[in-house]
Amino acid sequence: MRIVLLGAPGSGKGTQSQRLVQRFGIPQISTGDLLRSAVARGTPLGIKARAVMEAGKLVDDATVLGMIEERLAEPDVARGFILDGFPRNIAQAEALDRMLTALGKPLTAVVQMDVPYAELTRRIAGRRSCQNCGRVYNIYSMPVGAALVCPNCPGNPPLFQRPDDNEATVVERLKVYEAQTRPLVGYYGGQGLLQSIDAQGDVDAITALLVGVLSSPAGEKARSVAGATKRAKSRPAAKKKPGAKAGKSARSKVAGKAKAKAKTKAKTKAKAKTKAKTKAKAKAKSRARNTAPKSARKAAPVTRRAAARKKKKAPARKK
Ligand SMILES: [Zn+2]
Repeated sequence: MRIVLLGAPGSGKGTQSQRLVQRFGIPQISTGDLLRSAVARGTPLGIKARAVMEAGKLVDDATVLGMIEERLAEPDVARGFILDGFPRNIAQAEALDRMLTALGKPLTAVVQMDVPYAELTRRIAGRRSCQNCGRVYNIYSMPVGAALVCPNCPGNPPLFQRPDDNEATVVERLKVYEAQTRPLVGYYGGQGLLQSIDAQGDVDAITALLVGVLSSPAGEKARSVAGATKRAKSRPAAKKKPGAKAGKSARSKVAGKAKAKAKTKAKTKAKAKTKAKTKAKAKAKSRARNTAPKSARKAAPVTRRAAARKKKKAPARKK
């Protein structure tokens, strides 16, 4: 199980990653943690990263990838991993693919945690933290009229909002996600690795959904489709990119979700559809032959050609 969880800030990715760690007994590889740990241990990459960060710059992809590669060499990763916080853009995803392929450990699943834009904003903007114990609460899940204090700490200190979580910053963070990270939905969709889940509502229910998606034979299917996709690479990628870029508003996000759902359905139904189509075609043919007047008989070749065209399109839909 080599998994990437995709989700906007506020989608609950962190919480769910930790639950999957428990459920499947595979480690979560967080690039943030890797960086902190490498810096603290003073590894060669850590020393390099520290210098970059102290200069107020972002650590480059090669350094982060190097840290991931080092982490993947550790024995607890033998059964798999959940990658958290990486990749964040197409370039990183491609670099990750190259590295994992070279290691003979390609990704087996990518799950997108889908939450509407408005709900994400609400979740993040509703966050309040306790300065004393660090716990994070949400004003929208607290009882109405409850005091904004930490019930966990003696003296019930007041909760505060981190500067990162104020509404203006949230909008900015979501914009960055839409522009940089969301295109990964199309990228992994093109590889047949992507599955989407509705990540709204009860945390336990979402975990159950995730576990179901990751344990289902659909995952196996996605893997075999990924092989087929590589063979016919250019077409599906070109087809999917515009859709991925479009998801800028809540509405188009919902549309994307519906599309993804439809895709999954299409996958499972594709076989039955092909059968039905063949049957329908045969039926139409015989009907035309038996009952049609002259004018309709003339039209028959067109119908046949249209059916052939439809048939050609069918395999592309599987992806
Ligand atoms: Zn507290």
